[in-house]
Amino acid sequence: MCCSCGACKPICPANAIEYKETVGGYLMPIVSEKLCNSCGLCISICPGRGFTWNLGEKRLKDLFTGEALATLVGKATGQELLENSQSGGVASSLLACALDSDEVSAVVTVVMEEGISPRPKVQIVQSVDALYASQKSKYCPVPLWSIIKELKKIQGPVAVVALPCQIHALWNLYQKLPWIRKKIRFTIGLVCDRIMTYAAVDHLLSDAKMSAQVRKGLYYRDKKQGGYPGNVHVFSEEGKSIILPAGSRIRIKDFYTPLRCRLCFDKMNIFSDITVGDPHSITNVDRKNGETVAIARTTYGLELLSLATERNYIKVRQIEYSEVIHGQSIEKKRKEWRSYVEAWKQKGHEVPNFYEAVKKDAFIYSQDKVYLSNLQYSANLDNFDSREALLRYVKRKLKLKLIQKTFLYPLELPKIVADKAKFLSKLIKKGRPNVYRNQRDKL
Ligand SMILES: Cc1cc2nc3c(=O)[nH]c(=O)nc-3n(C[C@H](O)[C@H](O)[C@H](O)COP(=O)(O)OP(=O)(O)OC[C@H]3O[C@@H](n4cnc5c(N)ncnc54)[C@H](O)[C@@H]3O)c2cc1C
Repeated sequence: MCCSCGACKPICPANAIEYKETVGGYLMPIVSEKLCNSCGLCISICPGRGFTWNLGEKRLKDLFTGEALATLVGKATGQELLENSQSGGVASSLLACALDSDEVSAVVTVVMEEGISPRPKVQIVQSVDALYASQKSKYCPVPLWSIIKELKKIQGPVAVVALPCQIHALWNLYQKLPWIRKKIRFTIGLVCDRIMTYAAVDHLLSDAKMSAQVRKGLYYRDKKQGGYPGNVHVFSEEGKSIILPAGSRIRIKDFYTPLRCRLCFDKMNIFSDITVGDPHSITNVDRKNGETVAIARTTYGLELLSLATERNYIKVRQIEYSEVIHGQSIEKKRKEWRSYVEAWKQKGHEVPNFYEAVKKDAFIYSQDKVYLSNLQYSANLDNFDSREALLRYVKRKLKLKLIQKTFLYPLELPKIVADKAKFLSKLIKKGRPNVYRNQRDKL
């Protein structure tokens, strides 16, 4: 269940841990038996096993949605931050505002390193100018907490942008290394359905068919190529570009999804100060330039959003949190989560410690075989002889899927039409689900 958060290596007192990229594209900690003194610190902070939350303190009513003190949608006012961003540049604008206003003296972000096989690199940034390079989403393992030792050397508080699993690691770290709690002033959490292993990067690069000698980098989603939400962009040293349609990234997702993402309930990053994501299904959104949804989870998050609005770093408007929950398909994800965990348990595997607390919010589940086979697939990613063999297997599967779809579609058409009609009549009768009332605030 490793999510490659990177925390175990720097906290190991015996320097016994190194990270290694596996055949399946996981980034896995390898423990040296010779150096390890069995102190158990790495295991105690590992978010793969679960995390140390304090439900009493948080009083979260619903663990799939978390609390929302305010829900906003909007974009960066800075043209460059907006154009260079993934959604609407709100994440980076909040960091810029916090740096300029001395709320923090540094921020932790991630850049995609250039090279034949681009991989992410965590960086500590102290100037707004350096923020541009880290914009856009990296849908891959990022050892975010590999910089713990460097954080200690920074004067003053810092901010971090993180995925839900990385925030879970942080909650574990808070327990073991209390100085981190004082060091981190706020967290910006990304909405996250899942990442893909590094094998997905290699798959996309191979689809792009650009010679490895000239290859310089890859963006998973580039708005400058085809507008928001953006196509896959592979580029060369000399400025040559190969653009793959967004669908080429989406169709490989299921093949490269890590195990822990399948068992993670926290798609909405509920333990961050501010959650940011794409404005799926939100009405009147600027789809040409892109916008970001921002959810204030804590009072500090709310204050920072107000400050950034007042100081004209972002231009935002209020929306209902229920719209965001609907757009992110959280109802469907509730059921999927429980179905995956039940399937995993059925196979006799240990489940993360959050299972018991979370399952009260996910009553309905399915015993469809697909859940077990998807889990088995993620677990088997490392069982291929080589990365090339894995890529060949996935490409064969994709071809087969396409053939099946082409030939079976006419046969399935009547069922698809009937399902759609059922869904539409339900929607007309009930209207959109609006069960999560947003706490309107002064913003
Ligand atoms: C793996 C992943 C999955 C996501 N899934 C969803 C989803 O299902 N639904 C949805 O609505 N939104 C999702 N997002 C969030 C969305 O893609 C945007 O990142 C978000 O809307 C913020 O956009 P922005 O323009 O405001 O940010 P930008 O201004 O572009 O800044 C992005 C910030 O995110 C940081 N970052 C990027 N990748 C990572 C990473 N892997 N780990 C830590 N920090 C990172 C960058 O360093 C930067 O600081 C996902 C993002 C990631 C990385």
